[in-house]
Amino acid sequence: MMIHAIRCASKIEGVVMNKYQLFIDGKWVDGSEGVTEAVINPATEDVIGHFCHATSDDIERAVAAAKQGLKDWSAVPAWERGDILKRAADLLRERKEKIARILTLEQGKPLAESVGEIDRAADFIEWGGEEGRRVAGRLISGRDTGCSIQVRKVPVGVVAAFAPWNFPIVLTAKKLAGLLGAGCSCVVKPAEETPGSVVELIKVLVDAGVPGNALNMVLGKPADISNQLIADPAIRKITFTGSSPVGKLLASQAGQYMKPVTMELGGHSPVIVFDDVEVAALAKSLVAKKFFNAGQVCVSPTRFFVHKSIYDEFVKVFVQSAKELVVGDGCGVKTKMGPLANIRRLEAMEVLVKDAVAKGAKIETGGKRIGDKGFFFEPTVLTNVSLDAELMSTEIFGPIVPILPFDDEDEVLRIANDVDYGLAGYFFTKDADRQAKFSDQLTVGTIGVNDVPAHIAEVPLGGWGDSGYGVEGGIEALDAYLKSKYVSYR
Ligand code: NAD
Repeated sequence: MMIHAIRCASKIEGVVMNKYQLFIDGKWVDGSEGVTEAVINPATEDVIGHFCHATSDDIERAVAAAKQGLKDWSAVPAWERGDILKRAADLLRERKEKIARILTLEQGKPLAESVGEIDRAADFIEWGGEEGRRVAGRLISGRDTGCSIQVRKVPVGVVAAFAPWNFPIVLTAKKLAGLLGAGCSCVVKPAEETPGSVVELIKVLVDAGVPGNALNMVLGKPADISNQLIADPAIRKITFTGSSPVGKLLASQAGQYMKPVTMELGGHSPVIVFDDVEVAALAKSLVAKKFFNAGQVCVSPTRFFVHKSIYDEFVKVFVQSAKELVVGDGCGVKTKMGPLANIRRLEAMEVLVKDAVAKGAKIETGGKRIGDKGFFFEPTVLTNVSLDAELMSTEIFGPIVPILPFDDEDEVLRIANDVDYGLAGYFFTKDADRQAKFSDQLTVGTIGVNDVPAHIAEVPLGGWGDSGYGVEGGIEALDAYLKSKYVSYR
């Protein structure tokens, strides 16, 4: 086994043993009852900080501030809001080295990935401000003489935004870019694993000139916070990124109050490799894509189907490349894959491998935890996997790859579409007819043809089916945060 488990000291000046406070009405404050919870470095299991729990009163004050913040921020001309968000994007770029260390310490990913995430977040913030400048209503001629009609676009109101831990900066930035660009205010709840990254993002936005009351942040018990925020009459929109079960729960709660939601949920992306590709080069490049962020990516390439005529060669190169990955503390300069972000993911990997093996899978490499400190799991490749194995229908969200052979393209298309998720799908072929057929018929929101694309600011990304609804990014980025008003003049 060529996996190197690199462990580095996690003492980075200025970012250890932090206390992450709440941000309410422009001030950093403790939770009213003084309750805190530990933040763990997943590479070492060291406690690297604590975050404050908001009480019900704290949440109420955050919403009240956001109500006033909505008035203040929506009154700022869109052009000026664009300037402020551009300034925030530049500040984020300036501070990326420091913030990347915080992100790596609490999430585990390699430092280079953290820097890349921050760059993408800056792009989204800048994009949101630019799109805000282009929001325009329209005039429609009335049906009778002397009658004219305006269609206005107005901010939807105060937004409750729930962010995940896998890309805490860019996935929070996507929400803030859209809602702030549209003139909305918010109460944001970061994931419990990664409060420090979002704290830094908020500081950047406030330093750039976003009014503190437009941008409130609370931490604590997720269900307590979401129950209260969703029920609060002042909250007019819910946006969530996370698992499909939690997304369904929040969407159903929001439905009771007739509140619109944007849901960016899980995925189970098929990767279909036909027989007309450069096998070795593709297998190597897909290893890098698959194990990016230790596989904890909603659009991660997940279910691999490889044409049987190239199957053995593909598996051989893929396995060899996976074995060569340097796994270790994200702070290590050689590290290519960090730990999983929390103990739940580690346990989930063990359960998925055990189930697949019980149903006949062969472990080509990996299959178990690395060491007993830190949430490291070996890059794992499975063959002879049954379609009944749990990991073929449940989102893996970790470094496990099932590779199955196929020889019938209609059958592989049917299997690729035969999951509840519909986030992304990738296929590799030079054949133009197949490219047209698979890009038409894969039932997902994002498709890579000879590509596994990243989400970039100028593109709308959203899921189908259990992967959610609504999009983030693209010229659609603000749609979720605007509502229409029809005004008829006589
Ligand atoms: P989880 O479902 O327990 O929690 C996911 C996130 O949702 C966390 O940030 C948590 O704070 C939040 N959450 C949980 N219950 C909530 C509630 N009642 N109200 C508001 N927020 C709540 O899952 P997990 O163990 O943290 O992660 C595993 C699963 O999450 C993965 O299988 C993956 O599907 C999903 N996930 C998806 C994304 C994504 O980008 N779509 C990101 C992170 C996690």
